[in-house]
Amino acid sequence: TNTLFDGLLATGRRDPQRRFALLPDGRSYSYADVDAVSARFANVLAGLGVESGDRVAVQVEKSIEALMLYLGTVRAGGVFLPLNTAYTPTEIDYFLGDAKPAVFVCDPKKRDALAEVAAKAGAALETLGVWRSPDESAGSLSDKALAAPESFETVARGPEDLAAILYTSGTTGRSKGAMLSHANLLSNAEVLQKTWAFTRDDVLLHALPIFHTHGLFVASNTVTIAGGSLIFLLKFDPDAVFEHLGGSTAMMGVPTFYTRLLADARLNRETTAHMRLFTSGSAPLLAETHRAFEARTGQRILERYGMTETNMNTSNPYDGERRAGTVGFPLEGTQLRIAEPESGEILPDGEIGVIEVKGPNVFSGYWQMPEKTASEFRADGFFITGDLGFVDADGYVTIVGRGKDLVITGGYNVYPKEVELVIDELDGVVESAVIGVPHKDFGEGVVGCVVASKPLEEAAVIAALKDRLARFKQPKRIVFVDELPRNTMGKVQKNVLREDYKDLFA
Ligand code: ATP
Ligand code: MG
Repeated sequence: TNTLFDGLLATGRRDPQRRFALLPDGRSYSYADVDAVSARFANVLAGLGVESGDRVAVQVEKSIEALMLYLGTVRAGGVFLPLNTAYTPTEIDYFLGDAKPAVFVCDPKKRDALAEVAAKAGAALETLGVWRSPDESAGSLSDKALAAPESFETVARGPEDLAAILYTSGTTGRSKGAMLSHANLLSNAEVLQKTWAFTRDDVLLHALPIFHTHGLFVASNTVTIAGGSLIFLLKFDPDAVFEHLGGSTAMMGVPTFYTRLLADARLNRETTAHMRLFTSGSAPLLAETHRAFEARTGQRILERYGMTETNMNTSNPYDGERRAGTVGFPLEGTQLRIAEPESGEILPDGEIGVIEVKGPNVFSGYWQMPEKTASEFRADGFFITGDLGFVDADGYVTIVGRGKDLVITGGYNVYPKEVELVIDELDGVVESAVIGVPHKDFGEGVVGCVVASKPLEEAAVIAALKDRLARFKQPKRIVFVDELPRNTMGKVQKNVLREDYKDLFA
């Protein structure tokens, strides 16, 4: 058996004619097609020399065939390694040099730009585009796949074998390759399917990228294991979302999806009445967005928390209170605790510390970084997430920010989120990001970066915060920005802001 592939497809195989995916161009994929097309890709990869444990690196536009390439890689015994479509050839050079893949699949349009870095890394270069029409080639890999057999003897792989290496988003520094086993991925798909009550009758509106854990594993694996189906949008676009919402039962999104939907007049009770679930993750969902979405639609977004390294760790309850501003409870099988970051001492409920997790979902380590791996695990096997948070008396987990974003000013800890929440309440503020930048007296000075909907004065904002925050938490400067810098997953890039304002107190 092949732990992940056989586990994911167990339900779908029982009724192969059932729909697996509907594509925006009207094509549809059944579970039989999943079997056939993933077999075609597995045959091609095996023909290219991919053996058990070999990496297959992929930087392609989102397409259902790219998803089949993921399954084909797993079937061929390989290790799937997706890369963000935004990465430049220079960045790809780092990833290929680090990962040493046997095969690198890129967008046909980028072939020339990437040929050199692929050759340097010793990877066979293939291309895969979006299959737009039967008579138009969608790259060398799809040509080969179309000519390959529709059956493949799936390579046996066990629970501990690697299924994927996913690079982290690089929000806090250079991306690290997280080694994910068959059991890591399968166990998380199982627990999410159960926790969120996915069945074969579900239709998930899939608008997330598939180079990231959210769109690739959380969304696709959870639906696949349930035997449900996807409406596979190639990107998030409100028009396409509203066109297909009526045929869906669930949607998974990053917070920016929800703020964009809220800005659209079509979002209302009628257009969402049939939906059973909206989930959010990858970045904090503002409690205000949660409330506004409920006011408009009657739907309470279910927020969950995960990382590339751990898959999903916590979730608000499906039945039960979904608490805005929290990420809910640890998933079944996952242990979570809060520790003092330096000493590792376990802290009682209510106290803020670093979130540590252990369970079948947690990765085995960073690719080729044994020291980094060793320093991120405690002796008893708990992974130190680097996220700061606390557990309240009811067991809900709240994230207060990343350890790396903590501001230490005059010896005091300032948790940015606490300050951001207060700033966000001010009239005329759309959103904010609080950072610490070098300050000669205080070590770091608190700075509020504010997106405003109307002209605001720096002094007025600072004055308005005086009674609402302890003095050491009050921003010493407020800067106004048109928008917060965000990456594709909607994560605010505080390192960019810190760089932009590093001389503010110089
Ligand atoms: P890098 O590790 O390279 O700096 P990254 O941590 O952004 O990048 P990911 O693995 O994509 O890479 O993101 C995981 C992080 O996203 C978590 O550690 C956490 O900080 C954040 N995150 C995920 N879900 C939530 C959530 N619901 N609320 C707040 N933060 C979240
Ligand atoms: Mg991280």
